[in-house]
Amino acid sequence: MPEPSANMEAVNARLPLADGGGLYKLTIKDGKWASVEPQAGPVVSERHAPISAIGPERLGVSREIDLQGRVLLPGFVDVHMHLDKAYSISHVRNRSGTLLEAIENYRSVAPSFSKETIRSRIVKTALQAASFGSATLRSHLDVPIHLGRDIAFRTIEAALEARELVSGFIDIQYFPMYFYEPGIERELSEFASETLRMGIDGVGGAPHLSADPIANIEWAFQLALAFDRPIDLHSDESDDPSVKTIDTYCDHVLQNGYAGKATAGHLCSLSAMDQNEADRLIAKMAEAGVGAVTLPAVNLYLQGRGDKGNVRRGVTRVRELSEAGVPVAAASDNIQDPFHPFGRGDMLQIGLMTAYAAHLAREEDIGHVLRMLTHVPAAIAGLQSYGVAAGNPASFVVIDALSAEELFQELPATRWVYNKSRWIYASELKKQGIDPQWSALAGGSR
Ligand SMILES: [Zn+2]
Repeated sequence: MPEPSANMEAVNARLPLADGGGLYKLTIKDGKWASVEPQAGPVVSERHAPISAIGPERLGVSREIDLQGRVLLPGFVDVHMHLDKAYSISHVRNRSGTLLEAIENYRSVAPSFSKETIRSRIVKTALQAASFGSATLRSHLDVPIHLGRDIAFRTIEAALEARELVSGFIDIQYFPMYFYEPGIERELSEFASETLRMGIDGVGGAPHLSADPIANIEWAFQLALAFDRPIDLHSDESDDPSVKTIDTYCDHVLQNGYAGKATAGHLCSLSAMDQNEADRLIAKMAEAGVGAVTLPAVNLYLQGRGDKGNVRRGVTRVRELSEAGVPVAAASDNIQDPFHPFGRGDMLQIGLMTAYAAHLAREEDIGHVLRMLTHVPAAIAGLQSYGVAAGNPASFVVIDALSAEELFQELPATRWVYNKSRWIYASELKKQGIDPQWSALAGGSR
């Protein structure tokens, strides 16, 4: 039986990413956008119930809704997360605040986390992200095969089970960080191939941390090509300007025709390089068609730890990359774990940090930041039919703000989230969701 809210009409929706950014009348049919029409001005209608006045029992069955000028955005795409590690901070700390201590400390306790623990962390974090308006997540996964097959596989199994549990609310892509070291190629290839056959989406890794970064990148491409999957590598998460695995990464993207299917996260050292070298690499990324993801929250926390005085921000050259034609998304990365003690999976928070860290706060920059949370990561994630346009699946968040700037001025807590042909969450309803399955999953994950 179709959901009652699979068919709906909304007036006075503010679409900051549409031409003109004014008010729109929207219709949804069978869970898809049927029409998106600009209004000449505010519509006064007795028929349409104001969204702020619709209680939990009526939200799911209301067919005509007045958004009262509130901002409506397509569901956020958080394209770089670590769902399996999220909320582990009470078990794993990080005294120095460095990336290396985070890796070491996490590795030392990883064997003690059960599959159930990892699964419930993923479920909790995914639902939390959905409650803030995210519709699609891409998560890297910690799979230290050198510590044992059972440890690596328990994370893969937990991740696949969690994805199934939350599938009525949000979509997840997985890119395990295959830990490459010379000498373990065969074991690693067997493991990685098996995970891709099990339903893992793409190939991840962190070649700058390998003893042989070039061999690591070659290995990742061989695997990706064999399975025809996208690649998403942690790239140069370092303050050291001589760290530039992105150079070799781009070579392979060019050689293998991987434009649009290769993503580089972090790119911190790019900020530390001299201008000529940075210009060369940025131009090469644009030519190769590599997408970039900046993780401002985590890199502001982890990078620059050796600096005094003018501490480097660790955030990549967002504006320069964008101006050169490289698609740049912003994402959460770690949430409340040794890599980052804060965060909550709220893309508005990440947008605000991006605006600060990348100096993207002029009035005209706000739309750019919003695209870094929506359309750009959607393209990086390979999503077809994304956005508020006739024919696309209706997946959106209504936020209690009357302009794009107000989103970052107020970080409004109040949101209404629609996905999968129905309202899946309304924060007005005191964190209960509006679906018994949501409450059961969220309750069981704490
Ligand atoms: Zn990461």
